[in-house]
Amino acid sequence: MLELLLIVVALAGLVWIMRREAGALPALGLLLILGALGIVFGAVTVGVLLWLGALAVAACGLPILRRRWLTPRLFTAFKKSAPKVSETERIALEAGSVAWDGELFSGRPQWQRLLDFGTTQLSEEEQAFVDNQCSVAAGMCNAWEIARTRADLPPELWDYLKREGFFGMIIPKRYGGLEFSAKAQSAVLQKLAVNETLMVTVGVPNSLGPGELLLKYGTEEQKDHYLPRLADGREIPCFGLTGPRAGSDATSLPDVGVVCRGKHNGEDVLGLKLTFEKRWITLAPIATVVGLAFRMFDPDGLLGDTEDLGITCALIPRNTQGMEIGRRHHPIGSPFMNGPIRGQDVFIPLDWIIGGTEMAGQGWRMLVECLSVGRCITLPSGASGIGRYALGWAGGYTRIRRQFNLPVAEMEGVQEPLARIAAHAYIAQAAVMQTANTIDHGVKPAVPSAILKSQLTEFQRNMLADAMDVHGGRTVTLGPRNYLGIAYAANPVSITVEGANIMTRNLMIFGQGAIRCHPYVLDELAAKDNDDLPAFDKAIFRHAGMVFGNAARAFTLGLGIGKPSVPFDEIAAPYAQEVARLSAAFGLCADAAMASLGSGLKKREMLSARLGDVLSNLYLTSMLLKQWHESDNVEHEATLLHYSCRTLLHRAEQAFIELFDNLPNRALATTLSGIAMPLGRRWHKPHDRFTRDIAHAVSTDSALRHKLIENTWNTQDAGQKDNPLARYNALLADSERAEPLYRRIAKAYGKGELPAEALHPEQRVEAAWEAGLIDEDDAIFMRRFEREVLEMLSVDDFAFDAFALDKESVVWHDTA
Ligand SMILES: Cc1cc2nc3c(=O)[nH]c(=O)nc-3n(C[C@H](O)[C@H](O)[C@H](O)COP(=O)(O)OP(=O)(O)OC[C@H]3O[C@@H](n4cnc5c(N)ncnc54)[C@H](O)[C@@H]3O)c2cc1C
Repeated sequence: MLELLLIVVALAGLVWIMRREAGALPALGLLLILGALGIVFGAVTVGVLLWLGALAVAACGLPILRRRWLTPRLFTAFKKSAPKVSETERIALEAGSVAWDGELFSGRPQWQRLLDFGTTQLSEEEQAFVDNQCSVAAGMCNAWEIARTRADLPPELWDYLKREGFFGMIIPKRYGGLEFSAKAQSAVLQKLAVNETLMVTVGVPNSLGPGELLLKYGTEEQKDHYLPRLADGREIPCFGLTGPRAGSDATSLPDVGVVCRGKHNGEDVLGLKLTFEKRWITLAPIATVVGLAFRMFDPDGLLGDTEDLGITCALIPRNTQGMEIGRRHHPIGSPFMNGPIRGQDVFIPLDWIIGGTEMAGQGWRMLVECLSVGRCITLPSGASGIGRYALGWAGGYTRIRRQFNLPVAEMEGVQEPLARIAAHAYIAQAAVMQTANTIDHGVKPAVPSAILKSQLTEFQRNMLADAMDVHGGRTVTLGPRNYLGIAYAANPVSITVEGANIMTRNLMIFGQGAIRCHPYVLDELAAKDNDDLPAFDKAIFRHAGMVFGNAARAFTLGLGIGKPSVPFDEIAAPYAQEVARLSAAFGLCADAAMASLGSGLKKREMLSARLGDVLSNLYLTSMLLKQWHESDNVEHEATLLHYSCRTLLHRAEQAFIELFDNLPNRALATTLSGIAMPLGRRWHKPHDRFTRDIAHAVSTDSALRHKLIENTWNTQDAGQKDNPLARYNALLADSERAEPLYRRIAKAYGKGELPAEALHPEQRVEAAWEAGLIDEDDAIFMRRFEREVLEMLSVDDFAFDAFALDKESVVWHDTA
């Protein structure tokens, strides 16, 4: 009996110590005391075993002992197996900073650290810009006209955007820019996402490109010249990195700049002869200044000893001799400005290099550093914005579209996609605004930027597809009345640009995050590079403590023992505790995968992607919980939170399961699965009752619907283009009155109390009024309501030859 008791107490004590990562000393003390008790009270065998355990802990855990025999051996093995970090990867790893992503990697997320990034509201000036200027800009857009009739934004909109400073959101006020916070930039882009051409046109100059590069790295002279001109739209920038041979692998770009002497403004100066071919460059056809990335060489040693200086960025005015620019590509679905740029032996002076000659060869570092912020904002905001429009339109349409005598929103098959859109939009907005908020606190979220870019643009793809499905033929039919089809067609643009999603998911999120966010791996690699054994010892044994700690936390939390206390209300707390549990499991699995596959993990992209999926889903859940914690929640929002958190946690667990199914070391996979999910899967897809509630709320005039479409363009002012969202909102406000009238009329018709030939809703309203079933007021109301419904159900049709670019080639079929 005593033996059993000692073993149980020893195991429980060790797990407790491991969970706290308390180090070797407490473990040593525990084993020595229990061993002594065993020997004194007659359980000699167990007592001796416990002392042997203590010996092992001392030998491996006490620095003074382990540094003599264990650490040197581990160091030698580590030097052989640690992955080589290329220069390009090192630059990527050093860019940006680590915040909540690092907490998730540690397996012990301290929620207070996340909550300390308190979210502030937009300033009055920022909110007024979102309310006014963004509404005016959105109200000048007609998607059909922009996409098909003129293949451009209307000139008055271009003028407005320049005049109001839309292109200078990131430029400080002292240069004439708006100097908006990251949150405000995101809010602007979300609102402008009502039209993807508008969103891209405003998003690109405010994202990675000349403006940001100049701000961070430009010389004073360059800043003074360009920033005021970029802020008021006198200069339109573009940035050319991609070419026919270099896409995702951008550092392989074959465009060159060779240092030489040449003539500039009649003077003989030192400069660069550039030869390049770029494609898919957004805004290039109308750009006045081109940011160009190229590889810089100095074969004649005109600048120094280095021949290959590396990737460099320069700013080149459009009219520079030899530059071919102005042709257009035709991005799918959307006519935003995009085209190729070519140049052969184009001579530029050295002071056109961004940051001057000092920054020669620093181009890749500059780009990667800027990417961590820009990639969090532009495309994720576009995704969140269009998702909320899709929700508003889909909720409105499915309520007014009646089939089988019911609004289709009442049908469970339609409710499923409606709830999905709502959850995706809700998560996307929380993720983008909360991450932008951390940027406003000074964080440069490198790994979250990859998470947001890939996850939110995938959400966008799903939201648009779901919205298309619930609209049926209404949005399949293109024309001025179709508010959704063009955005749906243009969706692949977001999937592809700024790091194509497949690569971002498979390679970057975990591949970059594992080293970047891991509390110890970077230190271990640095110790390896510096051949610093004490530093290695410190890092590797803290790392070991973390592995044991994560195993203990994942296992005990998986059994429901010792749930951490979390600073959330009773609705959010269980999800925060689950994030903590899965974060411990993630930390353990990440270490196990790295240890078992070593540098081979880089090539096992499918495994890396699943680890990335776990991290992404935990990150998104955290952002949602923080938003919930900070905002005033409305009726039905708790249901949406449950639905969203369950969806994300289900996805995280699914990624774990697929990881365990595919880890090549089967014994390790089984052990990890047993520790991380001792009771099997916990999270299933959300229950149908959540789906029904959410779908009903977003397709009626509810507080939840209004909250989800807050800060979208949902007003209809005089002189603006038609706003379908405003019309749906008005219809939903009226549909509470219309619904009982529909039911009364349908019942009477079913009983034969109305003429059988009254097949149209309008005819039935008249018949019901004549039969005294509804009064004059209701009849007037229903006539107007039905007219508006029919308007919103209608689609466009065109002349027979309307779509042919070459009217001459049209064959007029003989239909006689
Ligand atoms: C409309 C549009 C606008 C653009 N605007 C600009 C711009 O303004 N400036 C600019 O410089 N560039 C721009 N680009 C280029 C854009 O950034 C690239 O398209 C993108 O980097 C991907 O390159 P790629 O299309 O050549 O795909 P590829 O690199 O050929 O990739 C093909 C597929 O392979 C996958 N893949 C590649 N490598 C890996 C890997 N290691 N692991 C897993 N999967 C991988 C990719 O995810 C992708 O799915 C634009 C592109 C488009 C289409």
